[in-house]
Order: sequence, then structure tokens, then C-alpha cells
Amino acid sequence: MTESLMKTYNRLPVTFTTGEGVWLEDNDGKRYLDALSGIAVCGLGHAHPRVVQAIREQSSKLLHTSNLYGIEAQEKLAERLTGLTGMEKVFFCNSGAEANECAIKIARRYGHQKGIEKPGIVVMEGAFHGRTLATLTATANAAAKQGFGPLLEGFYRVPFNDTQAVEELTAREDIVAVLVEPIQGEGGVNIPDAGYLKALRSICDDNDCLLMVDEIQTGNGRTGQWFACQHENVKPDVISTAKGLGNGLPIGACMAQGEAAKILVPGSHGTTFGGNPFCCATALAVLDTIEQDSLLDNTLTTGQYLQDLFQEGLKGNDGVVDIRHAGLMFAIELDRPCAQLVSDALKAGLLINVTAGNTIRLLPPLILSKTEAAEIAQRLIPLIRNLLGTALNE
Ligand SMILES: *Cc1c(COP(=O)(O)O)cnc(C)c1O
Repeated sequence: MTESLMKTYNRLPVTFTTGEGVWLEDNDGKRYLDALSGIAVCGLGHAHPRVVQAIREQSSKLLHTSNLYGIEAQEKLAERLTGLTGMEKVFFCNSGAEANECAIKIARRYGHQKGIEKPGIVVMEGAFHGRTLATLTATANAAAKQGFGPLLEGFYRVPFNDTQAVEELTAREDIVAVLVEPIQGEGGVNIPDAGYLKALRSICDDNDCLLMVDEIQTGNGRTGQWFACQHENVKPDVISTAKGLGNGLPIGACMAQGEAAKILVPGSHGTTFGGNPFCCATALAVLDTIEQDSLLDNTLTTGQYLQDLFQEGLKGNDGVVDIRHAGLMFAIELDRPCAQLVSDALKAGLLINVTAGNTIRLLPPLILSKTEAAEIAQRLIPLIRNLLGTALNE
């Protein structure tokens, strides 16, 4: 591999050249079952005919004009997203971090409009919100921040899944918003107790704070609802999303309702690429396909099916601490570091991820069939057993 890239990633020794559905092929012709979807991006898998068609059609008409003019696909996508979420307004950008930047700017300006000089935002331990300086500040991981100070003021961290800690902070005059992932992705697929988001909603209501939900990973069908906050019927003030929205084209969205939807006006925020006709037309095709092919239902049923296979296949292994999922967002937490499994799985023709040291994370495409789910279980379970068995015999 070339020396000409900044060393921001330790890359695995594989290069893919084509894909179809849940399968990828490398430059030696070996096939891999993609149980990661490019980190929750390719929900429709690879080379989905409807996505290919949307890209062909839009690219032959128009790629970009800028936000100085009306953009038909952007307007349609905004209406589609507000219809799906109950939000009122959408700002389009190109990534998750940018969507969260927009949310953070909304929160701060909301505070300033109330006369608060240094508005504060509550964030969580274990949180991941991106790599730009503001979103990095909001992110918990100390290693990711190391050497990048001075970071931003105005972020206050509490334990995830602890409503009392949020309540204590939001009682302060200067706290204007709570930023939270409905399920922490990078943090290890941490699923909070039922009722957590609902409790945060009422705490925010009581304290005049914005509830801002980071659905960059959990959104666009990943957990079996359009957005994960809908499992609890919670309507946030702000929802940010990205990853699965464009199935591989870079697009993010910051959506808002109520007071939060009125904050940004001409001159207060902007983007050159965000909301361009190309990405928006493709995202529309993605959402249409999720709906028309009943992929939310598939995500729920296939997710449960795979959860059952894991539970059955790993039964009685003491090294398995927990197996949890929401739709097709999976974690198998072990009692020991398991980064080694990523390359073991690669050899076995399976793409997985390990996060938070001990946790195997799977984010397979929403189009996953039961046969393909069984294939994931069949390839992965022996590797986990082997790792645990080997470690025990040492
Ligand atoms: C991936 C992710 C981000 C950052 O998105 P980028 O597109 O990499 O900037 C932010 N929040 C969550 C929850 C994510 O999973």
C-alpha cells in the first residue's frame, strides 16, 4: 500500500473492487459477506439497482448548482424526512460531524437568544459525535482528543443512561441542550434502559432545554424504525443523521422542530456541497426503497433471527458477557480484548468490527436475508469459540 496517505487508519490488508448485495469481492476474486456495511452506511448493500438507477439518472441531469438556487431533490428530501420524523425543518450537509456541528450551533444560538452568555450542552460518557473540533469536544474518547487542545468550552459530561445526572445539570441556568445517541455506536452498542429517552424528553421540557438526538448511526432504518427515538415515541427538538441516508454518497442532515427550527436564518450557517441534487436524489431513492421493500420489517425480523442464532450458538460460553441488538445493530461483548477477530473473520470471508476493545460490532445491510444472517452466524461463532477456547487453554 502507498506511503502517500496520512496514517489516520491502520488498514486491513484487503482492497475491494466490486460488490453486490451483502457481498464484496477483493482484487483476488475472493468474496466476503459484509456484516458492517461500511460502518452502517450501505443499508441497501452494494450496487443496489434502485440506487444505481437514481445515480445514473441524476448524474446525467445535474450534480451541483449551490444553495444560492432552488434544488428540487433537496426540497423533496426535506419533505420526506420531516414527514418521517415529525421535524419541521432540515439543513443538509455532507457528513455526520457536520450535522452535529449544526445541532451544536442551534443549541448555542438558542441559548444566546435567551440571554445566556456561555450556553452549555450536556453530553454523555461513551459518546461519539465526530472528529471536528466541536464534535470531538462532545465525544468522550480521551485518546481521540489527545494533542488537539484547546478544545471548546461549554460541554458537560454525565454517565450514559443516568437521568438523574442530567436532571442535576439541566437545573442550571446556563445549560441549554442535551446531546445524546439513542444507542451508543462507537461506544460499544450501548442500549439504555427503556424509558431513558422519554425521561430525557421530560427533563428537557421542564428545564427549557433542547433534546438533540444523534441518529447518525441509528437512523435511516438501522434499528427497525426510521429513527431509533421512534421506538419510544419521543420527539426530539433536533435530530442529526448521516451514514445510511445516502447509501455511500456523502450526505448528512440536521432536522429541527419548534423553537429549534427557527434559530438558523440567512447568514448564520451554510455549506457549499450540502444538499446538492446528486446526493439528495440518491437519498430519496434510498428512503423509497426502505419503504417499498418493507426493510424496517426485515430489519426487525432478521435482527431477531440473528440474535437467536448468536444466543443459541454461544450458549454456555462464559467468556461471552452479553449479546445485544436493536434491529440490525449488534454487539457481542466478550470478557477479553478481541481485536484479533477482525482479521480472523476477514480470512473467513466476513467483515466485522471490534469496538470498545471487547465488543464485536455488526451492522449488516438492512436487506439481509435469513440465509445470509445464518451465514454470518456460521462464520463468526466458531471464531469466537476458538478465541475463547484458546485463551482458556493457555
Ligand atoms: C459516525 C458517527 C458520527 C460522525 O459521522 P462522520 O460522517 O464520520 O462525520 C457522529 N455520531 C455518531 C453517532 C456516529 O456514529
